[in-house]
Amino acid sequence: MMNIEITLPQWAIAENNSLPEFIPELESRMRAVIRFAQLNFEHDTGGPFAAGVFERDTGRVVVIGVNRVVPSNVSSAHAEIVALSLAQQILNTFDLGGPGMTDYQLVVNGRPCAMCYGSIPWSGVRSLVVGASGELVESLTGFDEGPIHPNWQAELQTRGIEVIEDVLVDEACQVFRDFGESGQPVYNGRSG
Ligand SMILES: [Zn+2]
Repeated sequence: MMNIEITLPQWAIAENNSLPEFIPELESRMRAVIRFAQLNFEHDTGGPFAAGVFERDTGRVVVIGVNRVVPSNVSSAHAEIVALSLAQQILNTFDLGGPGMTDYQLVVNGRPCAMCYGSIPWSGVRSLVVGASGELVESLTGFDEGPIHPNWQAELQTRGIEVIEDVLVDEACQVFRDFGESGQPVYNGRSG
């Protein structure tokens, strides 16, 4: 076995196929992402995290991905990595900000962890939209979000990536609350 395979669960493939071609409203993009996060843990196909890649200005949907750590046995299969990687495969480029590309946006239901934060500049996206803050994610779920840069928003902005926070926070938090009360495993490395 010398390849890595991360796939979306069947329900998420079907949900992607039934999404409208465009989701113009920012809150509606977030609501779609939050719904995937809820469905992911309800279906027991991963943690309560989802991320979507959209054309920033038109809202054209590229893909919404979900966390696949436990089913894939891949600790890096966070929703952001899954969504960005799928978008790059779909658009046939490793750089979503490359020459001739329109501006792409990553929409996530919880602030990216330290690993996913690092993946954002490398991906080429020009915009990050966040639901719940890192503090809320950690307190509601018990997941360790890692050592993120204290001025993480400014660091992205100096690299030409806009940051929009606190979009549909209450709806985002409800998923984390539901997950926290579900008794499902929190899979931090070292079982921390
Ligand atoms: Zn992450």
